[in-house]
Amino acid sequence: MYGRERAEELRERYPHAAEIFGLYLALVEVWESAAVPEKGALEWAAAHVLPRVLTATATAGPRPLADAITGAKVHDGLLAAWLAEEELTPIERYVARATMRVVPVKKGQGEEKTGKCPHCGGPPQVSFRTASEDPLVSGRRMLACARCPDEWNFSATTCPNCGENGKRTVHAEARLKSPQVGRVTPSGDAVFPHLRAESCQTCHRYLIDVDLGQDPRAVPRVDELAAVPIDLHLADQGYTKITPNLMGF
Ligand SMILES: [Zn+2]
Ligand SMILES: [Zn+2]
Repeated sequence: MYGRERAEELRERYPHAAEIFGLYLALVEVWESAAVPEKGALEWAAAHVLPRVLTATATAGPRPLADAITGAKVHDGLLAAWLAEEELTPIERYVARATMRVVPVKKGQGEEKTGKCPHCGGPPQVSFRTASEDPLVSGRRMLACARCPDEWNFSATTCPNCGENGKRTVHAEARLKSPQVGRVTPSGDAVFPHLRAESCQTCHRYLIDVDLGQDPRAVPRVDELAAVPIDLHLADQGYTKITPNLMGF
């Protein structure tokens, strides 16, 4: 459910993201062992999951995050504040999201047409294309929610943030000149053959898009964490991701 095997695979494949996947796997350990009760899930998570998120992060997190967590004071109302979409620091947001992964998200207001999750009304975290039977045709475009496990079908030509149609730019790795993109071998093998960014020229927001036709083993929410070099390149170009991922990229 949390893509443990895929995260293990990507930790080996992408040295630049080894720390991120190391932390992700430590969090998966916490999530998988959480026996969340049906009633009072939020309070239970605050008491039993949140402290373990802090420990896992201090132990397995990349240095700056581990240090920040060790010194952080987490106030009692953090999860409620996150649910109410109050202003939080990046560290607080991280702790809240990592804890809330085990809490079922209530139904909210959303609709497929506006790019908001039809289950909870949350914003999309990542875009992906399903594998197609026909190699000349790409599969359906889907969006995966940043707040709940829901995924929904969405127009391939429309910006999920502002609704603009037809003004998107695809940033494939081949066009990225940033040296952090890393080892592109002379044969032209891409480091991220299945990942690219899709940005909107109108609102300057973007999402990472995962092509399951290129890599059928991909787990969109997990693979998206590996795209840090693409994220850095897009930030450089003045684009902001519609929703930063759990790790803050
Ligand atoms: Zn949702
Ligand atoms: Zn837009």
